[in-house]
Amino acid sequence: MQASDSRYDVAVVGAGVFGVWTAWHLHRAGQKVILIDAHGPAHARASSAGETRVIRAAYGPDEIYARYAMRALAQWRQTLLALGCGELLRSSGVLWLQRPDSVSGAQSLAVLAELAIAHERLDPAALTARYPQIQLPPDIWAILEPDAGALLARRAVQRLALELQREGVPLLRAEIAAVRGSGRLDGVVAASGAAIRARQHVFACGPWLGKVLPDLLGPRIFPTRQEVYYFGTPAADPRFMIEHLPVWLDYDRDYYGIPDIEGRGFKIAHDRHGGAIDPDAAERAPSPEGIEAARAFLARRFPLLAGAPLIGAEVCQYENTSNGDLIVDRHPALDNVWIVGGGSGHGFKHGPAIGEHAAQRILDSTAAEPRFLLANKCSTQQRQVH
Ligand SMILES: Cc1cc2nc3c(=O)[nH]c(=O)nc-3n(C[C@H](O)[C@H](O)[C@H](O)COP(=O)(O)OP(=O)(O)OC[C@H]3O[C@@H](n4cnc5c(N)ncnc54)[C@H](O)[C@@H]3O)c2cc1C
Repeated sequence: MQASDSRYDVAVVGAGVFGVWTAWHLHRAGQKVILIDAHGPAHARASSAGETRVIRAAYGPDEIYARYAMRALAQWRQTLLALGCGELLRSSGVLWLQRPDSVSGAQSLAVLAELAIAHERLDPAALTARYPQIQLPPDIWAILEPDAGALLARRAVQRLALELQREGVPLLRAEIAAVRGSGRLDGVVAASGAAIRARQHVFACGPWLGKVLPDLLGPRIFPTRQEVYYFGTPAADPRFMIEHLPVWLDYDRDYYGIPDIEGRGFKIAHDRHGGAIDPDAAERAPSPEGIEAARAFLARRFPLLAGAPLIGAEVCQYENTSNGDLIVDRHPALDNVWIVGGGSGHGFKHGPAIGEHAAQRILDSTAAEPRFLLANKCSTQQRQVH
């Protein structure tokens, strides 16, 4: 669409999961919103573009993320059902494997119990009896969250963006120029020179946050290259399908995976931060070393999949903050500029609840959440949230 001359209440720059959900809540609060994206919602280079994302509430000691995940899960479920696409959330359960002495496992159990979130503690015997397709050392136990699962991420974001358009929220394809300075913005300017005027501006630009707000966020957002692999499962074998195996996270915290959904393959990915990446310029081919390491893990943990063919891959990026906490905050020098992002490899699930919190902050109806403040984000990385 053409940029309108009219003035919007809020211009949301970025149509990934955070931008779309922030626009969603602002629109429902009666605001006149425009959504702007350089390439469109959940495009192939966006962090929200993955086929699937995990949604779980177990977060070690971080009760805040357990609460946000539950609030988000309810909204995902309700909204996707209302839009007629409930299949974009798969409540397969999430199984988090734990070493015997796992401190974060014990902390997760305590938080889940305190918040009355459904969960089961599976001892080693129960675990191997229930999931014989997983090969484990004898002392590994697990936390099973039965209501958790997987979101079909790209399609969910695109469906929400489409619904916003249907409800009259314009979606403008434009690259917004970098913003510097202090005071108040009267609008944002596209590379074409077109100006979009608004009272408030939200930058939900994911891994591009450091490019669009270079002085403030250039040193505080660390995009890292992450690879995801899809391996083919044996024909007519249900044991590796989402209906028969939960989403799983390994006990060393590095590998996690999502069983086959809609024939896409058995997804496995590595949660350790990869090298620095430029989200515009990076080639998106997976590395031979990454594929080899994933295969070796697969052969160890899921021996029936040893030698399975690689049938797909995604190269995406985390947009890390220094410690992994998200950002929902006002720009310290630009009064009517807000930043929503810093998903740090775990943000997708929280989209609805973070969008809601962002909308409430912009509308002045809620207090800031200290963990989401910019002041807590520094320019040296030390990951604490998983
Ligand atoms: C491999 C991988 C696995 C992950 N797994 C999980 C998981 O299992 N569970 C989970 O909860 N989270 C997970 N995450 C994290 C989650 O996907 C991200 O944190 C989340 O998608 C970030 O969304 P976003 O809206 O901030 O960014 P994006 O989706 O990248 O959206 C930002 C948008 O801003 C637009 N934009 C940027 N600059 C401009 C500009 N100047 N003008 C106009 N538009 C602009 C871009 O085009 C883009 O569309 C994972 C991430 C990756 C990469």
